Amino acid sequence: MTSKGQVLKDIKNKIKSLEDYSENEEYVLIEKSLNITKEQLFLKQNFISSELGKISRKLKRRLSGEPINKIFKEQNFFGFDFYINKNVLAPRKETEELVERVSMDIKKSKEGVKLLDMCTGSGCIGLTLKLICKDKVNVEISDIDKKALSVARLNAEKFGLKTRVKIKKSNMFERLKSDEKFDIITCNPPYISKSEYNKLSNGVKNFDPKIALLGGEDGLDFYRILAKEGSNYLLKNGRMYLEIGYNQKSKVEKIFKDYNYKFECYKDYSNNDRIVKVWK
Ligand code: GLN
Repeated sequence: MTSKGQVLKDIKNKIKSLEDYSENEEYVLIEKSLNITKEQLFLKQNFISSELGKISRKLKRRLSGEPINKIFKEQNFFGFDFYINKNVLAPRKETEELVERVSMDIKKSKEGVKLLDMCTGSGCIGLTLKLICKDKVNVEISDIDKKALSVARLNAEKFGLKTRVKIKKSNMFERLKSDEKFDIITCNPPYISKSEYNKLSNGVKNFDPKIALLGGEDGLDFYRILAKEGSNYLLKNGRMYLEIGYNQKSKVEKIFKDYNYKFECYKDYSNNDRIVKVWK
């Protein structure tokens, strides 16, 4: 038996030097390892050896650099707990900003909105929009990767959306019929360049899939596809909302302006350029 204070201190000492350590992570590690609530942990005084065993198995993975959300296969996004695994990018805080923008757009629309979320990964953008905008939006989600789509499908089931969203395997626009058109297309494509990829933290590089991060040599390949083909799949007054890298605004703007789109860019919570809206 070891006292709670001692265990918390030991864990913190070990993990605080990880490059992606976040304050009080040791509490989360214990709660999730033992499957107990914050309150239950608060009331606990000691841990018995079977509990210590469970904690130390997870701690070992954390010390190897694996992020908490990948160890426990869950990430909260916009208030919803998404199932995740090694086959999808863990949903990021800044992507919530995109969801917020799009939901305001949908709520303002007089009619129902047809929406396609491409490169959906865990499904966090498309499924969250369906959860918050309900019948006001008709959602289709797609991804190139079969394994990512299984995760998205699991999340659709988890949130009771299985029969209410359409899930499609497609490399960008490849499998769309030419008469399939949408009011809104959302996409958080892979946008990391080759040189930036090597500089990513280990938690991202080793535990988020490369296919979800790398956007070609300069990170911009997917914006070129979106600019070239996107407008063919937009209804009248249709618009695209896309996530971009914090340093990509002017390059992405040029790509879309070359195809005669109008362009607006919004900041994320950390004041970085992050979301663009493009339309014709
Ligand atoms: N924002 C992610 C990161 O920091 C990248 C996401 C993406 O490529 N779409 O690694």
